[in-house]
This record gives sequence, structure tokens and C-alpha cells, in this order.
Amino acid sequence: MSDDPYKVLGVGRDATDAEIKRVYRKLARQYHPDRNPGDKAAEERFKSIQSSYDKIGTDEARRKYDESRRMDDFFRSSPRSSNSRFSGFDIPDIFSQMFGGQQNNRQARDRQEQRETYRGSDITSGIDMDFSDAELGCKLEFDHRRLRTCAKCDGTSFGSTRSCVGCDGRGVTSRTSTIIVKIPPNSKHGQKIRMRGLGHDHPLGKSGDLILTIRVDAKEGRRWEDGRIIQSVEIPYSTLMLGGKCSLRTPSGDSIRIDVKPGTQIGDRRRIPKMSFGDEDLDVEFVLEDNTKLTDAQIVALERLRDTGL
Ligand SMILES: [Zn+2]
Repeated sequence: MSDDPYKVLGVGRDATDAEIKRVYRKLARQYHPDRNPGDKAAEERFKSIQSSYDKIGTDEARRKYDESRRMDDFFRSSPRSSNSRFSGFDIPDIFSQMFGGQQNNRQARDRQEQRETYRGSDITSGIDMDFSDAELGCKLEFDHRRLRTCAKCDGTSFGSTRSCVGCDGRGVTSRTSTIIVKIPPNSKHGQKIRMRGLGHDHPLGKSGDLILTIRVDAKEGRRWEDGRIIQSVEIPYSTLMLGGKCSLRTPSGDSIRIDVKPGTQIGDRRRIPKMSFGDEDLDVEFVLEDNTKLTDAQIVALERLRDTGL
């Protein structure tokens, strides 16, 4: 088994401290003796994981380890004879090379940290579909404009005095992307789908996310309110006043008849169990039937009503 802690943990030399910690935790859990009773190999592995993490688990320990390793590598690659060990090299050069190397490493780590600090904005949008697509699941094309890292300068002109014909020094350019969005079965109106990294790019950091809100087409006198469907039902004036029955088509396409209580007011609501999308309750809102053209008989009847003071 290698004693190189990077190899034991299976991380790159440029891994961030957070990444090392994450991998260590995962491996330590996996090979923990409590989980592998009597397994000698797992126990050895666990010990080796522990000691590797001791070497590179903290910033300070890691810096020490990296430095000593660089020195080891250097001397190992030098000729073995003590007389000629440094032949062709100047000792100060060796050190400037080593510390120069460390400097570069630190710069690389700074850049890595910068990438973790900066993040492009999220994009929020809605995606429309009909009820059966939401219920059964589907794949939909979605077009959106987003800021992408400039292909000419790779974002490096952002915040610098360098000019770039690709992005005018902004480090990003606006481009349209078409993506395929997978809608899982049993999706509900108002549910959000987060697509990591598909928001705006940041020239110096990570990309934001795309957050899509599912909108199931309400149609036919229906509207959404706080995640519930409200269905308007037109009722003649006499039914509102005297009570009666009315018919309506539910969002799932069923025709049903419901009772209207005497003295129902315009805007009153009734909740009908399991008649909305996906067996949810349906809220029905009573509205006055739109009667712009009255028959002669209706006019006579209304005039008589007016005479009675109603
Ligand atoms: Zn550019």
C-alpha cells in the first residue's frame, strides 16, 4: 500500500482542503472497524486512511508534507554520489526553485478558493406543460439566455486591464442555450426543478443554477392560487338565489354535477374532494353567468322582481 496520503485518499494534489476532508470522512466511515468487524484488511486500510489524513488534513500539516515531499523528490532524483550530488546545481537555485514552486502552488490554491467564493447568479423561470405530461413525466426543450464564460479569453479579461474582442472585458457573453429538461412522473404545479450549473457563469467562479417552476396549464376557467386550482363555475342568478344544481368539467376531464345552496353569493367557494389534478381537492368558485342578451321573458321577469324590491 502506498504511503502517499494523496494516493491513499484518492485525491489529486490540487484538491481543495474541503475536498480532502469530504473524501476522508467517506472512506473513514466505509472502512471503520465497527462496520467491518474482524476484517483485518479493512482495519489496515482504516489506519492508513487515518494517518494520511493526519498528513494532509489541515492546511499547516499539508504545507509541511508538500514541502518535505518536494525536497525528497529533488534529492531522490539527484545523482547518488555524495560528491556529485549537487553537480550542475547551485544550492540557492534549488531553494528558489522549491519555494518558487510553492508560490505557484499557493497561487493555484488561491485561484481554487476564488472559484469557490464567486458564483454566477441563479436563473429562475417557469416551464409550462399540460396535466398528463406532469403526471406521466416527460422531456421538454427549454430555451434560455444565460451569461457564458467568454470563449476567447476564458473569462480572464474580467477585472483586468486586458481588452478582449469576445466580451469587451466583461469575461462573459450572453448566449442562448437550449436544454432538455426531464420532468419526473407525478410532478405537481409549483414544484421546482434545480439544474446545477445551468444558471449564469461567473468569469472567476462557479456557475449559478437554473431553477424551473413547473406550471401545469390551468385553462378553461381555472387558475392557480397558492398551489391549488380554483375553478370558476358560472351560475344563473336564479340558481344563486334559490339554490339548485350545476354541471362542471373537472381538470381531469370528468363531468360532474354539484349542489348550489340557496343564497349563494358571487365568489363563494366549495371544496370538492379529489376532483383536481392528481386526486387533489378542487376549489370551485361560483360566478354569475354572463347574460348580456336577455330574452323578452327574462326582462319581464326581472322588471317584476324589481317591483318587489329585489
Ligand atoms: Zn473575453
